[in-house]
Amino acid sequence: MLVGLGDLESGPHQGALKSIGTRVKRARQQDAGASQGFSRRIARALGAIIRVRKTIAPNEEHMLIGRHNHVRNPYLLGAHVSTAGGAHLAPERGRAIGATAIQVFTKSPHQWKDPHLKEWTSAEFRKSMQENNMRCVLGHDSYLINLASPDQVLSRRSVKALRAELARCDQLGIDRLVSHPGNYIDDQNRGLRRNATRLTRCLRESAPQIHVLLETTAGSGTALGACFEDLAELRDRVAADVRDRIGFCADTCHLFSAGYDLRNAYDKVWEDWERLIGLDGLQCLHLNDSATPFGSRRDRHALIAEGSLGPEPFQRVMCDPRFETIPKILETPKGPDNRNDIRMLRRLVRYAG
Ligand SMILES: [Zn+2]
Ligand SMILES: [Zn+2]
Repeated sequence: MLVGLGDLESGPHQGALKSIGTRVKRARQQDAGASQGFSRRIARALGAIIRVRKTIAPNEEHMLIGRHNHVRNPYLLGAHVSTAGGAHLAPERGRAIGATAIQVFTKSPHQWKDPHLKEWTSAEFRKSMQENNMRCVLGHDSYLINLASPDQVLSRRSVKALRAELARCDQLGIDRLVSHPGNYIDDQNRGLRRNATRLTRCLRESAPQIHVLLETTAGSGTALGACFEDLAELRDRVAADVRDRIGFCADTCHLFSAGYDLRNAYDKVWEDWERLIGLDGLQCLHLNDSATPFGSRRDRHALIAEGSLGPEPFQRVMCDPRFETIPKILETPKGPDNRNDIRMLRRLVRYAG
């Protein structure tokens, strides 16, 4: 358990600590000349500190150190954060919850409109990433994009939107964009082919350092990406000249909903991943519990350890050396003032320790 006085000052034991502080101060004032009494009073005050520390339950609520009530987070671990008011505000929001890695939308994910990103914003964003010690940032594309669609109008719009997403990533210095593989609507095989062709086009027309990370999906409706075979095939169908810019993002909630039992068959799930996709391609983990039962094919996120997955898969992921250098991002309900994010990050840090 890592608790410093600074943490007690701002934590739930604030009141108790204040009263101890006052007693120490009073003891100092009263006993400026009488060292024996002073020592006795100091000893009593210290005893009170020890008593307070003993009352602290060894849980994540108190895994705090530092002046800003931050979680001590030496991992590549964080959350999706808002860009409301401008992308440049996101890194600070990340720091405020104790993140070292963040994920952002570079525009509203529910609208087609592509905002013009000002040069000022991108310069501020890069500066803010450094100032807030953010070690990693990922983009997430709009929910409206469907590169697998058989509809010509929707597909044209989707290609245009993904190109704009990639251009904004380039402007902001983001080199990984998480993307859902889309819905095939008519035929799965044709959907995969359409997606791969359009993805190839978008990659060829964008900055070469940017990777698109195909995200695992829960598999509702005709969503692609609910099985490893889909994801591997999609990558293999992307043209060879840009194929190495395809990576993957595994979402624990989506995997579980899609029928990958991280709870009872953790090793088997990753063995399958390794065999079919390869662990090299894994470039991001979305850590979400699921609000629906195993195999539900529904995409409803729950707080870590509080959904149908429970704590164990997250404990294992946080301690798994294969995932040590892979950014882990929460997409769980934030609650008022992002308190949940702070709590969840502390919880995950505790799992890793
Ligand atoms: Zn996700
Ligand atoms: Zn989801």
